Amino acid sequence: MKTSRPIRCLVTAGPTREHLDPVRFLSNPSSGKMGYALAVAAKEAGWQVDLVSGPVALPPPEGVKLTRVTTAAEMFRTVEKLFSKCDVLLMCAAVSDFRPKKAFKHKVKKGHADLVVEFEPTVDILKNVAARKRPDQLVVGFAAETQNIEACARKKLKEKDLDFIIANQVGRAGTGFAADQNAVIVLGRDGSRKKYGRAGKMKLAREVIGSLQAATTQLSPP
Ligand code: C5P
Repeated sequence: MKTSRPIRCLVTAGPTREHLDPVRFLSNPSSGKMGYALAVAAKEAGWQVDLVSGPVALPPPEGVKLTRVTTAAEMFRTVEKLFSKCDVLLMCAAVSDFRPKKAFKHKVKKGHADLVVEFEPTVDILKNVAARKRPDQLVVGFAAETQNIEACARKKLKEKDLDFIIANQVGRAGTGFAADQNAVIVLGRDGSRKKYGRAGKMKLAREVIGSLQAATTQLSPP
């Protein structure tokens, strides 16, 4: 896509929290570091960046429009609103796949020793917005896996109808969730495969944005 305006990019980062009661929630160890690094790298590349972030302990990146959310439902509403205006969606957030079916208004007392909690699935934000993707947009997902990472990521690339998926191994010391380093494989709809070995998340983010920048030149104009 050749336009005179900067590429508009929407990045999601961090975990979501699905509350059981006002003081307890279901979440995951995502620190938001990879998503924030991608937002910074996209800004450095001259892109206009919207960052939608779950609860993290990171400072807001400079020059990036940050919207903070808590739950998967809130993230969905925000992404839905911003999606049509973006050229590239980088769905890096570790969205909780489930939420308690019932959220208690007040703190559940300890007396409920045998408390049984029922869960229901949250909305799959990525699949939902990818289904409305225009030919001038790129949709990129992430796959965090503990085993068979490449095969699982390929399956998700197809099932969620993505342009790219970035696969990374979690559950190994030093990379993935909450770590400062990562190692990723970027798989494309067109069969492309790029492997980036263990490195700092900022370095990897710059490489990923560089390869997406090349891909945006292939997009049909709006
Ligand atoms: O299916 P799985 O959760 O492993 O897929 C991961 C990808 O899907 C990530 O890009 C994540 O941000 C996105 N996702 C989502 N909504 C969910 C769960 C995951 O957008 N409810």
